[in-house]
Amino acid sequence: MPATKKKVVRKQKARDLGVDVPEPERGCKDPNCPFHGTLSVRGQMIEGTVRSTGMDRSVVVEREYMHYLPKYERYEKRRSRYSAHAPECLGISAGRQVTIMECRPLSKTVSYVVVAVR
Ligand SMILES: [Zn+2]
Repeated sequence: MPATKKKVVRKQKARDLGVDVPEPERGCKDPNCPFHGTLSVRGQMIEGTVRSTGMDRSVVVEREYMHYLPKYERYEKRRSRYSAHAPECLGISAGRQVTIMECRPLSKTVSYVVVAVR
């Protein structure tokens, strides 16, 4: 049988995070990417909106939730912000709904990483 030369297109293999999130379509060289680097995720999974992309490879994610006040028998709106690492392969822009997941502290304020864009 003649040896056929196959051109191998190497798609960067994404790691399985163990959580139900889609694999990113692009690859990246970020060592702190949970899919293409060595960063592991664990703990909390939070959904929110990207409010700021001004930082270098980090974004601000805001989450809104209702808090019950027993005295008035009503709810009040509360919001909290998280600084999260944003791997390049996800192509994150402001205003997008994202899922972030807890990871080891990457800096003084960043201990979450974006794992999915909706
Ligand atoms: Zn990546």
